Amino acid sequence: MRLVILSLLALGIMDSAMQAQSYPSTTELKQMAAQFAPTRLAADVSRLDAGDRRALVKLIVASRLIDDIFLEQMWSGNLALYSQLKKDASPLGQARLHLFWICKGPWYALGDHRAFLPGVPAHKLPGANFYPANMTKPGFEKWLQTLPKTTADQATGFFTVIRRNPKMQQLEVVPYHTEYASFLQRAAALLESAATDTANTTLRRFLRERAAAFVNDDYFRSDVAWMDLDSPIEITIGPYETYNDELFGYKASFESYVCLRDDAETEKVQHFSQLLQQVENNLPIDPRYRNPKLGATTPIRVVNEIFSAGDGNHGVQTAAFNLPNDERVIAQKGSKKVMLKNVQHAKFDSTLIPISTVVLPAAARADVDFDSFFTHILAHELSHGIGPHEIGVNGRATSVRLQLKEVYSAIEEAKADVTGLFMLQYFFDHGVLPGGEPAEHRLYTTYLASAFRTLRFGITEAHGRGMALQFNYFLDQGAFLARPDGTFAVDFTKVKAAVRNLTHLLMTIEAEGNYGAAQKLLDQNAVIRPVVSRTLERLHTIPVDIEPLFVTAEELSPSQRNRSR
Ligand code: ZN
Repeated sequence: MRLVILSLLALGIMDSAMQAQSYPSTTELKQMAAQFAPTRLAADVSRLDAGDRRALVKLIVASRLIDDIFLEQMWSGNLALYSQLKKDASPLGQARLHLFWICKGPWYALGDHRAFLPGVPAHKLPGANFYPANMTKPGFEKWLQTLPKTTADQATGFFTVIRRNPKMQQLEVVPYHTEYASFLQRAAALLESAATDTANTTLRRFLRERAAAFVNDDYFRSDVAWMDLDSPIEITIGPYETYNDELFGYKASFESYVCLRDDAETEKVQHFSQLLQQVENNLPIDPRYRNPKLGATTPIRVVNEIFSAGDGNHGVQTAAFNLPNDERVIAQKGSKKVMLKNVQHAKFDSTLIPISTVVLPAAARADVDFDSFFTHILAHELSHGIGPHEIGVNGRATSVRLQLKEVYSAIEEAKADVTGLFMLQYFFDHGVLPGGEPAEHRLYTTYLASAFRTLRFGITEAHGRGMALQFNYFLDQGAFLARPDGTFAVDFTKVKAAVRNLTHLLMTIEAEGNYGAAQKLLDQNAVIRPVVSRTLERLHTIPVDIEPLFVTAEELSPSQRNRSR
């Protein structure tokens, strides 16, 4: 699963151009691309030894093959269209190429994924290129019934595509290592070669196991090796998420994240996770709802991204991810959270700082800082692990997720945000976090500005819904103040009590599995009030996300891509 930090407002640009079946002009294409602010992503490689540096270059080259596989996975015409666009030197052709590369296809990555150039399907295909374009959902299901169990398991598996037999036209299963053989064999050779370069045994083992998986589609051992990775180079490469298979959610897209571990920040996170039981024991809820023994915490790595590819680099950029998805690995090893610190920093600079100039009074803007933003995202992730999960309702064992049904995600996201604030305040109060009152002011002010970033998600999505709930609650408690000029301020005399009260309210609803109370709270508070919507409208010229420029990767290994800039 992955966390993106995105927003879905400000998508009106395409509407005018697309209504009459015309396609966006050069100017319009440039405006669409500008929703993704070009941002340099760099990381310090000076501390790597010579072997790791050689390995790093090979991993970047292998990741460029992941881009090629991903293009092929999204649409059968993608690779041909890409090479055709590269030959078109006209301003229109170059603008199309630029947007194609951001989106990794001819459909705009925001809104409803409409085509921005002619000669392609009008919308992104729900089954992408995992299934034949002319296959229907019932057609697949009917065929599935006719298959023996092992073949049916392969047909619905992560690592196969469905094709039509060229002679008989019936459906058949083709494994990834066959379908993408030429790319995967080259990528496997690069991983093998990088494995001989590095002196780190955990990295070497992962690269060898993953290279083997590329040519036999058995990813289990390499997923386990990835969980054990303890190396300055933190790499994630392979088929993982199934979001792009909108037909069934079976098929995994290839992606890559080549990163360097940030040891100081990773240390800080481990320190926080060791204090989780202490925070749990002091949660502002009835003591009988506290968990006296939290389970083992999953490892967290803070990293800086050098390069990302494929499913890891199209449209809105990934800010953090939690992998693997294979339940067998999770049962044995748990899962690992990876926080992409420099990506979050880039989003902070390109979206949160401009947002803060609109939503905060001038005097408060200096209090918006990256450390508070990043630390709160971390605290949010850790807060998902505390509070009620497995609960008893009328003497019956159940879970919060089951009891709260479709309102669970919004309540749980709001809980993670506000409990994150509670946790950090607890750390301030107990000398775990330094900085005193000025640091506390930075935390709450950054959280206020960041609320608008999340509200741009729209309130149909769990994070946005959960944020609307919090924002209105804080307004009603007087912790946030709406000013006549359309800006908002924190009342520092009231915000701590509001955080405790809302943490209490949400966690009590969860502990009691109180679906009715959850629904009522969201109905009343998960709305955009006029005072908020007026300010949200003033954010429409601010970019939605970033377009990463991989400056460190380019220095280490200049790409041959004929990309426009
Ligand atoms: Zn969350």
